[in-house]
Amino acid sequence: MSNVFYRSRKSYPTAVSASGVFIQDDQGRSYLDGSSGALVANVGHGRTEVAQAMAEQAARLAFVHGSQFSSDVLETYASRLAGFLNLPGYRLWAVSGGSEANESAIKLARQYHVERGESGRFRVVTRVPSYHGASLGALAASGMGARREVYAPLMRPEAWPKLPKPDPSLSGEADAERLRALLEEVGPESVAAFMCEPVVGASDAALAPNAGYHAHIAAICREYGVLFIADEVMSGMGRCGAPLAVRLHDPQVTPDLVVLGKGLAAGYAPLAGVMASGAVYDTVMNGSGAFKHGFTYAGHPVSVAAGLSVLDIVGREGLVDAARERGAQLLDGLRALQGRHPGVLDVRGHGLLLGVILGDPATGQPHATPGAAERVAAAARDAGLLTYPGSGALDGMRGDHLLLGPPLSITTGEVTLMLERLDTALERGL
Ligand code: PLP
Repeated sequence: MSNVFYRSRKSYPTAVSASGVFIQDDQGRSYLDGSSGALVANVGHGRTEVAQAMAEQAARLAFVHGSQFSSDVLETYASRLAGFLNLPGYRLWAVSGGSEANESAIKLARQYHVERGESGRFRVVTRVPSYHGASLGALAASGMGARREVYAPLMRPEAWPKLPKPDPSLSGEADAERLRALLEEVGPESVAAFMCEPVVGASDAALAPNAGYHAHIAAICREYGVLFIADEVMSGMGRCGAPLAVRLHDPQVTPDLVVLGKGLAAGYAPLAGVMASGAVYDTVMNGSGAFKHGFTYAGHPVSVAAGLSVLDIVGREGLVDAARERGAQLLDGLRALQGRHPGVLDVRGHGLLLGVILGDPATGQPHATPGAAERVAAAARDAGLLTYPGSGALDGMRGDHLLLGPPLSITTGEVTLMLERLDTALERGL
């Protein structure tokens, strides 16, 4: 009998090693990691230089508490990250995971307004569907009924007004104007922040708004004194072919808070964070003088050393450009598969954050009973390819879909292999 508390009663293979884009299990099977786990392993597996950087850091300075020390590695990393993301003057609040980072961003937005004497601002507007994390605040922010239902009594819905998801039939500006309407409806003086995923992840398979949306959202937020939080936990750090997905169409877009995770340390260590503008930081520091929030492992030196080493690899190997180029190759191949498999209704996304939408070819709608994504994902696993399936009808989620996002270091030959294995899986699973 195992003593492990598994996530579900399905059976899990036991992984023992990984290298590049491949993971090996204890039965000698090899899987092409077509989803980087949950869009995490951006630089691929088995990078000994990251492991060495972590080992050296652990030996030299494994831990200090944020109430007593900064660390040299954290100082270096915060400045390198601000440079990579082109966020001059922004401050890094480093934590261990995306949910913690979103909790931090939400609390920081609230405290910012309290410091400015606007303590009536507490609501955080988010979208439906969306996924911002599993902890209770981040979950309350998430528009994902299936994950919220059981815990709904622990949440206060009036604090989390929901905007509909981006509508590709609208211009980016017209789409963003719907935020203004919602702010007017709930009372803009009660709103602390608007938060969205620039390219949607798990809840709506790589859905992205039209050009102009984010710039206009930023302008509306500024006009109403509402902070703009970009949740780039999945879409950031180069995955979408740009350091930040919120700037895919307009490099001038500058959210007040940018939330990062996943690809930050690419799975080598738990690392996530919030990049906060100088204005937000200064408001807190010149006001009460302290962020009323903290986690024991915030800014953990070993995680930060992993993040620094990953950033070196991303820069040296040009992985942001690679994400754009391999992403175009993968999207082309997916379009060809869509032509061959009528059950594939749509393929979409940016860089190496791509979605495959499954459904009923007769109606062009999701299947009445979900299950196709799980079936295709199981067939893909049997064919040696890992994908990230999702399904759900609640909250406007787009039925069955697969999220694809291999490591940004994937080669052209490996993209071809991925497509061959997915072809087999669609043949068997649909
Ligand atoms: N935000 C987004 C956009 C995510 O995709 C996720 C995880 O999938 C999270 C937040 C939560 O991150 P974590 O699972 O590291 O807590």
